[in-house]
Amino acid sequence: MDVNRERLAANFTELCEIDSPSRREGRISRRLQQIFREIGAREIIEDDSSARTGSECGNLVIRFTGDLDLEPIFFSCHMDTVQPAEGVRVKRIGDLFTSAGDTVLGSDDKSGIAACIEAMRLLRESKRPHRPVELVITTCEEVGLVGAKALDPKLVQAKEGYALDSSGFARVITHAPAANRLTITVNGVAAHAGLHPEWGVSALILAAQALARVPAGRIDEETTANFGTISGGAASNIVPEKVVIEGEVRSHSMEKLARVTGEIEEIFTAAVTAWSDPAGSAKGSPSVHVEVRQDFPVMRLQREDRVLRRVEAAARSIGMTLSYERAGGGSDANIFNGHGLATAIIATGMTNVHSTKEQVELQDMVDLTRLLIALLTEPSC
Ligand SMILES: [Zn+2]
Repeated sequence: MDVNRERLAANFTELCEIDSPSRREGRISRRLQQIFREIGAREIIEDDSSARTGSECGNLVIRFTGDLDLEPIFFSCHMDTVQPAEGVRVKRIGDLFTSAGDTVLGSDDKSGIAACIEAMRLLRESKRPHRPVELVITTCEEVGLVGAKALDPKLVQAKEGYALDSSGFARVITHAPAANRLTITVNGVAAHAGLHPEWGVSALILAAQALARVPAGRIDEETTANFGTISGGAASNIVPEKVVIEGEVRSHSMEKLARVTGEIEEIFTAAVTAWSDPAGSAKGSPSVHVEVRQDFPVMRLQREDRVLRRVEAAARSIGMTLSYERAGGGSDANIFNGHGLATAIIATGMTNVHSTKEQVELQDMVDLTRLLIALLTEPSC
């Protein structure tokens, strides 16, 4: 069963040229529903997440009936892209796709979607028996996995799947860290800096004292921490009343994630507690509030897990050698794994993603399509 290269190329190009920056996925969603209806989807569900995500549309769950008595699996992709994404024009030189240079290409993640479409089309044309499959196509992945977070996991019937959403090729991501987001608010007391500085308590100085002590950067091989923004104060002649700092901690170990997050919290609390006012002239005392939100849960798959054994067997059946790697970032796969849906990430061939130099080779999308077909048809996996 040969992949129809030119049809795949045309489909990919069409999808890329439908602009779909995060929250403006309405047009591409309608087009995808039409395509999947044409190629025999049994059921197409658009969920009600748009009210929570602010997108023009919901996530899509698309079901295809299977004729092999094998466990259903799902493939997931996201339909949104990062900016600049207005007026995408695809340039093809030989079999290499890029944008015209002024926008992203959108192969992140339309390379994955195009491979799904070609795989399902080929299976239908060839009448080759395959397992039941669901396609989960999310919105708003690029703005914090917002679509996947708003998806009711009960809508996905398969218990295991593959997110087609990573750069490079023949790579499978098995581990990705969990992340906490921190918003730290240090409250001081405002006062005129020239007339009555002793009345004030500088939130900025207290925040700086704490920041100088917190763990940051690479903590160990599986843990990182970063403080990304600081805002506050009103003018150079006012003792700053309030400073807000935003940061994050990531770790492949939930225990270390909790420990480093706790350390940061303690250091800020200690800096504020240690404040003293020997002259007794301050018009108040400082306080700190640390808000911790879990951004995404950890992803940790073992080589003996069925989800990895299946992709290994599928790759072997088509002569493809896979590498297994850890990622440093979070993706929709973290969210699915957090819901108990074992999900590995498969690279789609895209490179230089999140830049106007993004590109993808047609051959990589062809081989990804072959891998998807093997995952759906090989009885041994
Ligand atoms: Zn992506």
